[in-house]
Amino acid sequence: MREPGNFPQNSAMPGSTLFVVATPIGNLADISLRAIEVLRQVELIAAEDTRQTQRLLSHYGIATRLISYHDFSDQSTCQRIIQRLNQGESVALVSDAGTPLISDPGYGLVTEARSHGLKVIPIPGPSAFVAALSVAGLPTDRFSFEGFLPAKAGPRGKRLRALATEQRTMIFYEAPHRINSMLQACASHFESSRKVFLGRELTKKFEQHFCGTLASARTWLAEDENNMKGEFVVVIAGGDEAAWQIARLEKADGLVAELRKEMPMKKAVAFISAFLGLSKNELYRRVLERDQ
Ligand code: SAM
Repeated sequence: MREPGNFPQNSAMPGSTLFVVATPIGNLADISLRAIEVLRQVELIAAEDTRQTQRLLSHYGIATRLISYHDFSDQSTCQRIIQRLNQGESVALVSDAGTPLISDPGYGLVTEARSHGLKVIPIPGPSAFVAALSVAGLPTDRFSFEGFLPAKAGPRGKRLRALATEQRTMIFYEAPHRINSMLQACASHFESSRKVFLGRELTKKFEQHFCGTLASARTWLAEDENNMKGEFVVVIAGGDEAAWQIARLEKADGLVAELRKEMPMKKAVAFISAFLGLSKNELYRRVLERDQ
């Protein structure tokens, strides 16, 4: 038996199906044969930016009708698409680049289609974060896709503080005009020696990769104004729990030493261990050892 979205070439397109189609992130050749076939055969393509998608369709000689869709479209656009699906038509959802719904529109339409019991079929393909992760040279067994950090310093700092203890490799998207301040914020919330990979303009003419530390990444950006142009994926190594524990204990040693000038040692240990979330007994033993 065939799987729902697995139609052979030139056969009839299954109706009442929303196809979520990944498109290239730069190099137009990075599109699957199945994606081209689906885009050619569906009755309608719902696109984030119809002009952008038209360029891709023209390149592949596809004449399918386009409709503009993004998550802030009025409800009627979403409902019109659902209505057409309910009438038996098939629709493809695409974004400007990469996989729809990955830091891109589509969530509203997919959830609505699901709630109507319609078929929703992925046509997998490029996504910038997978491309970057696959060449970053950082652990890939567990990772956390973080998308774009908030643009404002306050909310961005809050998010980075929450990530300070993240042990998995972290992947961020960033715009060129914010890449420098984003790396600066990361260096101040994580250690500046933390390993980082920058994937700039992946699959495009001026593709560049930087592998180094958070500190050296900013130096690299400043070296040549071209290094700061284009689209970026930032991949940052997760933290090392043993290293944090050592750093926290060293911080505790310093704070206890300061507080002991003002209060008895036991009281200083109790205060600092509660403040840093450390074991009181362990910190007490450490202080006694250092005093010997
Ligand atoms: N849906 C897309 C995907 O699957 O990757 C992501 C769309 S998001 C609006 C755009 C962001 O993705 C850019 O700001 C950049 O961070 C990243 N990006 C997209 N294309 C890229 C490329 N060719 N090279 C590096 N980063 C890219």
